[in-house]
Amino acid sequence: MKPEISFEFFPPKTEEGILKLRETRKQLALLDPKFFSVTFGVGGSTRDRTMETVLEIQTEGFEAAPHISGISSSKAEILDLLKTYQHHGIRRLVVLRGDLPSGEVSSGDFAYASQLVTFIRAQTGDWFQIEVAAYPETHPEARSASADLKNFKTKVDAGANAAITQYFYNVDAYFQFVDQCQKLGVNIPIVPGVMPIYNYTQLARFSNVCGAEIPRWLSLRLQDYGDDVASLRALGLDVVTDLCEKLLAGGAPGLHFYTLNQSGLISQIAGRLDLKNK
Ligand code: FAD
Repeated sequence: MKPEISFEFFPPKTEEGILKLRETRKQLALLDPKFFSVTFGVGGSTRDRTMETVLEIQTEGFEAAPHISGISSSKAEILDLLKTYQHHGIRRLVVLRGDLPSGEVSSGDFAYASQLVTFIRAQTGDWFQIEVAAYPETHPEARSASADLKNFKTKVDAGANAAITQYFYNVDAYFQFVDQCQKLGVNIPIVPGVMPIYNYTQLARFSNVCGAEIPRWLSLRLQDYGDDVASLRALGLDVVTDLCEKLLAGGAPGLHFYTLNQSGLISQIAGRLDLKNK
């Protein structure tokens, strides 16, 4: 069966960014994705731009899935957003707790993503396909790996249809996580999130914040390349293609790519995996 592929964008800020993202979408559309998702900025900072980007994608004839986060939103704001998305015929959401800008405390009505999932189901029934986040290497704030897994199950039981993982480079972490979920009776599709390697400094910073481990050998080799972007990307391409191959061979239901609004590396990975013809 053809694996389902999806791509994640952030909403661009400038006219140049909007044009670049259109071109990126054009390239990635060749891979026949199931949907394009659009992030919701930290603390709800991109609410309008997320909406504009989602509606543009939908106008182009693709399925668009807005991310929606609860940590800094009131029930009234979320309801307003849900109504607008329903009005525009949006049927899929990526539902998150979200993160706050550093130093801020939560002012929203939803402390955890599970509460937001419950609220969306109560307000809109089965209208939306709900995707939630999963953490094969454990969410950085979790009390323990088992507490995180239990919280993940609560979120799924609240009404999620599928999950997308945080990115990882340790393939075993994914299969172990899926196995543990199945033992707990969580049987929704858990789609691995895949982060191509664009730049070491940026990757190390992201990974530090989100709790994704860059294996020591990989981290050291990437650091060695310094400003030699071509060599860094060549190694990244090998590593990430190999990761995707193992994930698909092991039964992962699809792949969700964190694009950073770029198509080049992903098109190369897809070419090596022969995704177009699968
Ligand atoms: P939750 O599922 O609520 O979990 C957060 C933490 O709380 C975990 O440690 C969990 O174990 C714990 N927890 C959950 N329930 C309970 C409970 N009842 N009691 C005690 N502890 C509990 N962020 C954005 O701001 N915008 C985005 O667009 C965005 N998109 C993302 C897309 C994907 C695919 C992923 C994987 C992450 C994304 N994020 C985004 C980041 C995400 O918001 C952060 O990782 C955030 O810290 C957690 O969100 P969550 O939905 O996983 O939270």
